[in-house]
Amino acid sequence: MSRIVYVNGRYLPFAHAKVHVEDRGYQFGDGVYEVCEVRAGRLIDERRHLQRLERSLAELRIRMPMSMRALGIIVREVIIRNRIGYGIVYLQITRGVARRDHAFPSRPVQPSLVVTARALNKVRNEALAEKGIAVVTVPDNRWGRVDIKTIGLLPNVLARQAALERGARDAWFVDTHGIVTEASSANVWIVTSAGTLITRHADNAILRGITRTVLFDAIRAEGLAVEERAFTLEEAYRAREAFITSASQIVLPVVRVNDRIIGDGKPGPVAVLLRRAYHRFAEAG
Ligand code: PLP
Repeated sequence: MSRIVYVNGRYLPFAHAKVHVEDRGYQFGDGVYEVCEVRAGRLIDERRHLQRLERSLAELRIRMPMSMRALGIIVREVIIRNRIGYGIVYLQITRGVARRDHAFPSRPVQPSLVVTARALNKVRNEALAEKGIAVVTVPDNRWGRVDIKTIGLLPNVLARQAALERGARDAWFVDTHGIVTEASSANVWIVTSAGTLITRHADNAILRGITRTVLFDAIRAEGLAVEERAFTLEEAYRAREAFITSASQIVLPVVRVNDRIIGDGKPGPVAVLLRRAYHRFAEAG
């Protein structure tokens, strides 16, 4: 079965889905995106993801190309046409096509919209979560507005590649003060020796993950202690547990950071509990 992609008003087979060479996403990375989990064919946390998309667009002064309702219908159609039971759906909106010039197009152009969906391997993802992953750290050299989910991901790409080349699965960004900001495509959490969950407060220096937001509900319901604050790499080394959160991985335990083993080197009970609890708190539509 051929994958079907939505591109600017049409559902097309993957091989025929094309965007213009002067699309500002292609030329400048002038666009935003979202990734939602699909589980049992249902869209997870759609409302929150679309709200964040709206915010990202507003921050960059890109017009929403259609109503939220219409966008929701397209996203569902892409899931159905690709028969996704478990996987992800990806939405990208760019400022549109215009003669290459750094400034915004002088006349309004229609923003470009692309929606794709992809199945994920559930067995492989569960096996990964049961084992936990190794991460390495890299300097956080990104721009000052990573709270906007832009498609400009070059530092994230280089970080992930550096991780693979150093025998790890992912990279954590560490700022000039030794603070762990986030992972290349996920938020970072630790559990202190006292059992308190810590994740960095959300300002312009991290993306406010939807999984992160929903996880707070799960944490409160489980009666766990949590603090939203900066923590250093040194603190992470001493943590009892560590994990990352994102729409595609939900809660993924981290068992090694650089050459340091976290806790006993196995996924910790808090991460395991929260991974299991997550979908009771997420919205499925
Ligand atoms: N931080 C970064 C840099 C990301 O790219 C992502 C997800 O792609 C996240 C955090 C987690 O966000 P969410 O939980 O909404 O997937």
